[in-house]
Amino acid sequence: MKVVCVGRNYALHAKELNNAIPTTPLLFLKPETAVIIDNKPFTYPTFSKDIHYEVELVFRIGKTAKNIGVDEAINYLDGVGIGIDFTARDIQQICKEKGWPWDRAKGFDESAPVSNIRPLSAVKALDDIHFRLEKNGTIVQAGWSGDMLFPIPELLASMSRYFTLTPGDLIFTGTPSGVGPVTVGDTLEAFVEEESWLICSVQ
Ligand code: ZN
Repeated sequence: MKVVCVGRNYALHAKELNNAIPTTPLLFLKPETAVIIDNKPFTYPTFSKDIHYEVELVFRIGKTAKNIGVDEAINYLDGVGIGIDFTARDIQQICKEKGWPWDRAKGFDESAPVSNIRPLSAVKALDDIHFRLEKNGTIVQAGWSGDMLFPIPELLASMSRYFTLTPGDLIFTGTPSGVGPVTVGDTLEAFVEEESWLICSVQ
């Protein structure tokens, strides 16, 4: 199982980090060991002093997808959830400056808390999902899937050209603006529409 992610998929978030808006999806992977489930706490890693939250809609692959078309992409999904793409922003900055891969900044242990995956029928349409993140009870990020630069079918088609998607793989679809740091003792809670789907405390 792997996690396939996209960076800079919301224009306002690309802008807040002073990044150009991409013309092709900026794809990266997280390993299976990044995933935490069942609302388990996130342990702040020793190698970073600037861990950021990024709330993202997550989709699960239901059948093997290789070189799939945009029109058929939705048929390869079997569920939806919400997750946090924890990012070591200080390490990512070094990687960007040196032209190094992002793996250590994005793929470290516990960097991908994910909610329970629900049937696709839990949302009304892929391009009309509202979601948000609260930190200690205050809203810090609010997103709408209709704002994605690369909508979900396009993302899946693009990803499947490079990485065969297999059942159980998780797709992180990018974060809206409002990313920021966490500290030990914080509690993050992610909502889809008005329902709480994920709680993650930082220890
Ligand atoms: Zn992200």
